[in-house]
Amino acid sequence: MKGSKGAPIPAERRVTVRKEIEEVLRGGRFSAREISTLVRVSEREVYGHLGHIQRAAHKGGYQLNVTPAECKGCGFVFRKRDRLTRPGRCPVCHGGPITEPLFSISP
Ligand SMILES: [Zn+2]
Repeated sequence: MKGSKGAPIPAERRVTVRKEIEEVLRGGRFSAREISTLVRVSEREVYGHLGHIQRAAHKGGYQLNVTPAECKGCGFVFRKRDRLTRPGRCPVCHGGPITEPLFSISP
């Protein structure tokens, strides 16, 4: 008998998770952390799915909207950021807490 210890997440589950994330984002704006709580996968995995959703959006006929992260210290907005993850620190004031980017899907 083979042990099933440490079995990887099957591909089917991954597709389901992505669909769940899409459903969540159609209902409103959420940060990756909130999505990770709702769908019960790690934040890191959420970002992976978001990247995929973004790349597939054009073909899928929908749009992934990103509300950019913002520095609460000086108000700097991270508009030109290609990566979806939250930036580490503000390039302007090098301080201030930074809000999480928010995501939503519109048709
Ligand atoms: Zn700042």
